[in-house]
Amino acid sequence: EAKAGGRNTLRFFDPAMQAAVNARLHLEADMRQGLERGEFSVHYQPVVDERARLVGAEVLLRWRHPVRGMVSPAEFIPLAEQSGLILPLGRFVLQQACAQLARWAQSPATAHLSLSVNVSARQFRHADFVAEVLEALREHAANPRRLTLELTESMLLGDIEDAIVRMQQLKREGIGFALDDFGTGYSSLSFLKRLPLEQIKIDQSFVRDVLEDPNDAAIVRTILALAQSMDLQVVAEGVETAGQLGFLRLHGCGGFQGYLFGRPAPLQAWDEMLFSVR
Ligand code: C2E
Ligand code: MG
Ligand code: MG
Ligand code: MG
Repeated sequence: EAKAGGRNTLRFFDPAMQAAVNARLHLEADMRQGLERGEFSVHYQPVVDERARLVGAEVLLRWRHPVRGMVSPAEFIPLAEQSGLILPLGRFVLQQACAQLARWAQSPATAHLSLSVNVSARQFRHADFVAEVLEALREHAANPRRLTLELTESMLLGDIEDAIVRMQQLKREGIGFALDDFGTGYSSLSFLKRLPLEQIKIDQSFVRDVLEDPNDAAIVRTILALAQSMDLQVVAEGVETAGQLGFLRLHGCGGFQGYLFGRPAPLQAWDEMLFSVR
């Protein structure tokens, strides 16, 4: 039946598959339009130290579609990556972050705060990436020492030599690197050792059940011991309860991020959430 239309024509007769393809194309078109219409914004989620003092924030992209409402990054980031829209979106996030760092730098109460920005594989591999990051910082006169770029293990695996060169170029200017979602990838210890990292972020999937699941507890303790011996800072993601915090602190974790301290929010909302950090 698939050949009904002619000898060499290939057709999809699966309506479910066709519907999924259409939905994707539709979302992609909406994203393109949303970028022009200013539907994207960034939220900031607080990161605190072992004494629960604010040390900075992670910048998280948000999309509010006029009809769809808030679309999750888990849904649109992979599509943005495939379509190439991640390039303008990534530039937008970097611009926002650098502008915010420059504002914080103006007050002694906030000048120490740093920002972490997620970088996607395609963005990181783009030929102009290093130049664009440096240009965004320069444009806003933002301090590179207050910027951390979050990479993932999987995006570094392809061409590790090339990745290290890029990281070194940015590191020379003062920019730091964090390995995001640590523990969910396949990286070996020698791989970890070669990367010029300052920080690893323990994935929230290990933090969630750390008090109930002995395997998660063992993984978290191992990551913390490893980080300590390699002189890396650690931020635990997805910290929601005092119990999780207690366990993490007991085993030497020095950085925390999660609903216990604050949800991702626009900076206007930070006033009520914390103290005056706008
Ligand atoms: P991620 O970088 O690992 O970011 C942390 C995610 O955990 C965020 O989800 C945050 O809202 C969520 N989270 C934080 N604390 C808690 C908690 O206590 N409990 C729970 N259940 N979740 C918590 P979000 O904002 O939905 O982002 C999902 C992912 O999308 C991010 O994971 C990141 O991989 C990607 N993403 C977000 N913004 C950007 C961006 O600007 N560029 C790129 N390339 N990726 C981004
Ligand atoms: Mg992240
Ligand atoms: Mg993460
Ligand atoms: Mg993630």
